Amino acid sequence: MFGLIGHLTNLEHAQAVARDLGYPEYGSQGLDFWCSAPPFVVEDIKVTSATGQVIEGRYVESCFLPEMLATRRIKAATRKILNAMAHAQKMGINITALGGFSSIIFENFKLEQIRRIRNLELDFHRFTTGNTHTAYIICQQVEQAAPKYGIDLSKATVAVCGATGDIGSAVCRWLSHNTGVKDLLLIARNRERLDNLQSEIGMGKIMGLEEALPMADVVVWVASMPKGIEVDPSSLKKPCLMVDGGYPKNIGSQFSNPNVHVLKGGIVEHSLDIDWRIMHIVAMDVPARQLFACFAESMLLEFEKWHTNFSWGRNQITLEKMEQIGMASVKHGFRPLLTT
Ligand code: NDP
Repeated sequence: MFGLIGHLTNLEHAQAVARDLGYPEYGSQGLDFWCSAPPFVVEDIKVTSATGQVIEGRYVESCFLPEMLATRRIKAATRKILNAMAHAQKMGINITALGGFSSIIFENFKLEQIRRIRNLELDFHRFTTGNTHTAYIICQQVEQAAPKYGIDLSKATVAVCGATGDIGSAVCRWLSHNTGVKDLLLIARNRERLDNLQSEIGMGKIMGLEEALPMADVVVWVASMPKGIEVDPSSLKKPCLMVDGGYPKNIGSQFSNPNVHVLKGGIVEHSLDIDWRIMHIVAMDVPARQLFACFAESMLLEFEKWHTNFSWGRNQITLEKMEQIGMASVKHGFRPLLTT
């Protein structure tokens, strides 16, 4: 069995979802309520592969909200993730994806040091961040969508916002090694990590976002920001392809310019319908078929019986592992989302 640990994008979203799911009394509760709410299973899921194989899984809502970080309720945030992991393990789930901020909290607050949750010893081999598949899918989105919008990657400058992150560094590795992009612009805040990345991949210019945006033909957004930022469309090149893999989204603006193309990054489309409510809740355009690539990674690991923490730690995603999960993704009927 596979598992998915997810969370909603903000308090308002959580209140609306509680009302939709038939818990109106929770719909008016503030952040304190969500800080004390335990994890719960939202639904059981069945997924059929393009090969005909069928697997079963469970979606666990952790009740974490990004506002917990913004308001420094760190203890509540870390408890949400550890309790959701313990809940998944207690149910005997073989492999569970830590969606969105779950793996970021796990890493940033060094939760590997807290193995014991009440009477349960967490077995980290049962969990994956899902970041290898996410990075692979974002790279596929860049490679397949750029030519559609008249962007030749061999002449293109690609900016990666969040370049030193787990997903961002894997994207930089892939783009520099496999695609022959002309230039990479590396954006993040910590200079030392940027220098290390630049020397590892042997290319790229380190830059601030404002300086980079007017130079980029493609922008990959994979920064861990609790809230989207406003982007001035007049600062962008035309055409410009933006692949926003953030959850919550990195870009807070809508664009009406026909030459600015925004793709939802790190999203896959399955070739068969999945009977579940959860992707309606996170407002996917085609909720029966579209899902986060990190969630799809736990499905792929279950299909292939690779019951191990395939994506784990930080900045350890190799090109070989991206290729391996990419092949499984194609085999089982997932493809990158290419519609804006
Ligand atoms: P990491 O924490 O590993 O990396 C985050 C990166 O963002 C770092 O490079 C960090 O560097 C940078 N960053 C953070 N804040 C800013 C800022 N204000 N300006 C510029 N750079 C910033 O995160 P992940 O790689 O695990 O995840 C990245 C994003 O992808 C998150 O939004 C996450 O929720 C989303 N995600 C999406 C998935 C999907 O299936 N679509 C799956 C998993 C994650 P520094 O701190 O030095 O600035």
